[in-house]
Amino acid sequence: KAKQAGRAALRLPPMTSTSDLVKLYNLQAVKKLSQNFLLDNKLSSKIVSSSCRVKRSHVCEVGPGPGNITRSILEQGAQHLTVIEKDPRFLPALDILREASQGRLDINIGDVLTYNMEKLFPPELARPWEDPPPNIFLIGNLPFNIATPLIIRWLRDISLHQNAWVYGRVRMTLTFQLEVVQRMVAPPNHPQRCRLSVMCQNWCYVAHKFTIPGRAFVPKPDVDVGVAHFIPHQEPHIPLPFNLVEKVVRCIFSFRQKYCKRGVATLFPRAIQDDMVPKMFTVADVDPDMRSFQLTMPEISRLCHAYSAIVTQNPTIASYNSREQHIKAELNCDMDADGNEDEFRL
Ligand code: SAM
Repeated sequence: KAKQAGRAALRLPPMTSTSDLVKLYNLQAVKKLSQNFLLDNKLSSKIVSSSCRVKRSHVCEVGPGPGNITRSILEQGAQHLTVIEKDPRFLPALDILREASQGRLDINIGDVLTYNMEKLFPPELARPWEDPPPNIFLIGNLPFNIATPLIIRWLRDISLHQNAWVYGRVRMTLTFQLEVVQRMVAPPNHPQRCRLSVMCQNWCYVAHKFTIPGRAFVPKPDVDVGVAHFIPHQEPHIPLPFNLVEKVVRCIFSFRQKYCKRGVATLFPRAIQDDMVPKMFTVADVDPDMRSFQLTMPEISRLCHAYSAIVTQNPTIASYNSREQHIKAELNCDMDADGNEDEFRL
């Protein structure tokens, strides 16, 4: 009975129509800000239900815009939802949802790239890292221009068990350009295998849930969109500091199609390369003539550990960053189509 009463009381206002959006927010102007709205209720609902059961859970949604996914999260019974939106023009539309939400929706106008979620959820939801994930979800149809920098930032937070991950292995459902999701999930030997694959897969189980055609968005982007689900691993494949793993993986993949020894060489000043590179491969027990996209996680892990041992013995090597490697990384553009290489380095 209480359930029925709850349902009857939740009367969300009708979806924002495309013409309302054009009138309210001047879509031509926001296109530059990578604002592509999903106005199809079924697809919004599928993003929410595809990988998490939000009923009675606590959710944080990134970039709600006019609130179509927000509405689905509320309709699917989330106990509490906080949204983080950078553009204050969406406040009136989100306020209407808040009023209808029976106290379940909080709105934050802010930038998700600097937003700290350490105190966002009730402390009793926290779970030890090794336990099953807590009843907390992060969901977002992200703007393309921040999606990759954000996931890299969050992978670092996962590695340090900070930000939302002070609550345990919080799961995420996020959208990216389809091509970016394909790279994130690419296994060794796959044509899309790159450093983004290794970084994501090192700290998370990543799944490509489904694809949304570009035409489902207003305004229509030039590419299709992939919905990805992330569950942090109990233990990463490479249990070493984020910055060390990031550096070794960046160097290995700076020559993706060439022998991996070419990339590994860029970890060292020229004068000691002939000495250090064979040493690193011998210690790691990896064939230096493999191509970087062929390397498995255990092989990359052994290379990272070998590098870690070398810099422990020779700390000055740790600060070395080859110019060649930087130039290569910029040309390679293997992170995303928006060229967020610099952001990725953090
Ligand atoms: N969720 C809506 C939907 O699916 O229709 C809007 C998605 S739109 C692709 C991305 C949203 O993220 C926009 O509303 C944009 O203003 C917001 N946004 C962009 N950068 C942001 C940031 N750094 N922090 C929080 N929100 C941001």
